[in-house]
Amino acid sequence: MNYHKNTMTMMKQAIIKHGASLLCLVVGLVFAGGCGGPEAEDGDDRPTVVATTTMIEDLAKVIGGEEINIVGMMRTGEDPHLYEVKPKHATSVKNADLVLMNGLHLEATLDTIIKEQATGKVVALAEQEGIEPLTGGAGLEVAADPHCWMDTRYYGIYAAAVAEALSEVAPQHEALFKERLLVYLDELGELDAWIKKRFDEVPERQRVIVTGHDAFAYFGKAYGIEVHGLIGISTEQEPTPQDIEKLKTLIRDNGIRAVFPESSLGGSLLGLLDKVAADTGAVVGEELHSDSLGEPGSEAGTYLGMMRHNTNTMVEALKGGGE
Ligand SMILES: [Zn+2]
Repeated sequence: MNYHKNTMTMMKQAIIKHGASLLCLVVGLVFAGGCGGPEAEDGDDRPTVVATTTMIEDLAKVIGGEEINIVGMMRTGEDPHLYEVKPKHATSVKNADLVLMNGLHLEATLDTIIKEQATGKVVALAEQEGIEPLTGGAGLEVAADPHCWMDTRYYGIYAAAVAEALSEVAPQHEALFKERLLVYLDELGELDAWIKKRFDEVPERQRVIVTGHDAFAYFGKAYGIEVHGLIGISTEQEPTPQDIEKLKTLIRDNGIRAVFPESSLGGSLLGLLDKVAADTGAVVGEELHSDSLGEPGSEAGTYLGMMRHNTNTMVEALKGGGE
């Protein structure tokens, strides 16, 4: 209850902030003489917006629609922690009117390129006011956890920030972006309530999951699930033999039922997860989507669908299999 109230307050604050930005944006436009970057195609005078991850691309499309030319950098299944920029995307970054990125060092190598190359506005969606990054977990000694989109409340803040940024590059469509934002925030609210209801089906002591890397800490915190990753918050790391032994002990000691592979993880980590499961008797659940959406058009091809897919996958594996 309290949680839901906080959600609404945060989202309203985001909208108020969005509304207040109207004046600056009009003034800014007069001085800037329109948007800086070149257009995507001949005759396409829409502003070009580059989105780094597939989640952010989806969000930019939801809010921006046909009014914006959206260029997605990462393909389905690509791992943002390890992403290496392609020359054509470096050019897109340079020429974009707006770059939407996650921030908090999710886009490890891309981070520097965006900072050095972008000539338009850059918005890091996880670094917005109202988002409190988690720190201090496994592998978090030095960095904040960037996977904030896993909390639907935080994703509402992402959405508000996208609407605000798009309104700056296409002010003539501001009302439309705001309208789409409000509809989407309602959908996020419904999703949030539905996720909670689904996890109510799992007995509390069984609400423990193991994934490949620590991408689900925000999800776990929001929905009361204990989450453990084979490695820390970035897939740049390699698990040590001690990490693996520790995880096996944890699974055995707590009777954890399922481990979940992630679609954006490389083969060696997936193999290790399989081995951990085989050695402990845990079930290997269906694939979760953490840092990348599923194929376009598939159930997990949108953020809303991905969150439903992950929830259903976890709930079915955690409540099933009891003797
Ligand atoms: Zn990640």
